[in-house]
Amino acid sequence: MTEREDAPPREPGATGARPGAMVGGQGSSADDLAQLVALARPCRRIVAFTGAGISTESGIPDYRGPGGVWERQAPPTLGDFRTNPETRRVYWDGRRTQYPVLAAARPNAGHAALMALERAGRLLAVVTQNIDGLHQKAGNDPARVIELHGSAHLVRCLDCGRTWPAAAIQVRLAAGERVPACEVCGGPLRGATVLFGEALPTEALRRATEAARGCDLMLVIGSSLVVNPAAQFPVLAKRTGARLAIVNRTPTPLDPLADARVAAEAGPTLAALVSALLNADGEG
Ligand SMILES: [Zn+2]
Repeated sequence: MTEREDAPPREPGATGARPGAMVGGQGSSADDLAQLVALARPCRRIVAFTGAGISTESGIPDYRGPGGVWERQAPPTLGDFRTNPETRRVYWDGRRTQYPVLAAARPNAGHAALMALERAGRLLAVVTQNIDGLHQKAGNDPARVIELHGSAHLVRCLDCGRTWPAAAIQVRLAAGERVPACEVCGGPLRGATVLFGEALPTEALRRATEAARGCDLMLVIGSSLVVNPAAQFPVLAKRTGARLAIVNRTPTPLDPLADARVAAEAGPTLAALVSALLNADGEG
């Protein structure tokens, strides 16, 4: 995924919402939130499955949402990146200015709520489709954060696989390199993120599978659940006995499987959920 700074246009209000008190002003009812709290209350091995919707409140674009950058411009393929010097030049020209924006992004109330859930001993793992590193920034144990699409905070050599912190490459760009190459083998460098059509990282898939099988609640947050195989984890969790809750502004294909469904923004919803859970338990 490219790291672009186009501001995401806001989606129109969620469809299919019932009337009632608003959570986050996006058309979900207070009843939906109460149902989510009741569902989560007994759970002690929660796995959060997060998508772009948890990061939009931190100013990170939703790449796949309506008006997202991928609707206007096809993402580069790995083959094109390897063979076309112009593609690499455009990529690195963009990244030089856009990575600092991503690096400066701050976690929001949704990330903070998941950190509080972990601190209370109730969060098994965060499986994320995001590449922004905001869960780790919020204070979640990096060992519990499973990044299905890689991380924009690493740069990888496509030939030898060696990685560097993105900040180290930014230093080289600032020193005048336009298209940095691997210092070891000379291979092409790019952000360590998964492109459309690329396989997801094997180890992340293995750990996400383990988390889905081991959780008692799969809490989907801000994902439209349309990208496979990532979207299969909530199904796996449900099939292996977990409950399934979905917090997303718009409908998802897995809504019929969900035990609770809140059509609202991630931050206010998670803050309300975790506050209700932890205060009631005397754990917060
Ligand atoms: Zn290399």
